[in-house]
Amino acid sequence: MMKRIIEYFRSLMLLELMAGLGVTMRYFFRPGFTINYPEEKTPKSNRFRGLHALRRYPNGEERCIACKLCEAVCPALAITIESEEREDGTRRTTRYDIDLFKCIYCGFCEESCPVDSIVETDFHEYHFENRGENIMTKEKLLAIGDRFESEIAANRKKDAAYR
Ligand code: SF4
Ligand code: SF4
Repeated sequence: MMKRIIEYFRSLMLLELMAGLGVTMRYFFRPGFTINYPEEKTPKSNRFRGLHALRRYPNGEERCIACKLCEAVCPALAITIESEEREDGTRRTTRYDIDLFKCIYCGFCEESCPVDSIVETDFHEYHFENRGENIMTKEKLLAIGDRFESEIAANRKKDAAYR
């Protein structure tokens, strides 16, 4: 009974409220934990797995040799490849599609590629507005590779010792 009376008078003094306000005031003048994205950005790992790209060699030749290892290893069945032999006897893809709605960004495709062709860039700020834009075709992937080649090469160089 006595305990309940003490609790009643304590509640009248609003001690819990004061304690809560004390926590608020303690954090009020500290630097915030959040940032104002997109004006401010946090650093990204060089292993960040974002939008995919197909790379070329410095002479402009596409790296992909249509071995289909990436297609076979993809756990989400997001990659579709068709290929044919070129006149010079080499094999190249005629179709290389990645369905980004299926992709889980696991990175297995780039791990499996023997010629460093398919990679995941650290670019993650993209969106789709129309039906079908989720399919990244070979042309789109090569264009992304051309656009981000210097960043891709720099990131892979940083990680080379661990591969
Ligand atoms: S990142 Fe993973 S899920 Fe996405 S295409 Fe590559 S292997 Fe498939
Ligand atoms: S991207 Fe690499 S793993 Fe995939 S088919 Fe081309 S060469 Fe093979």
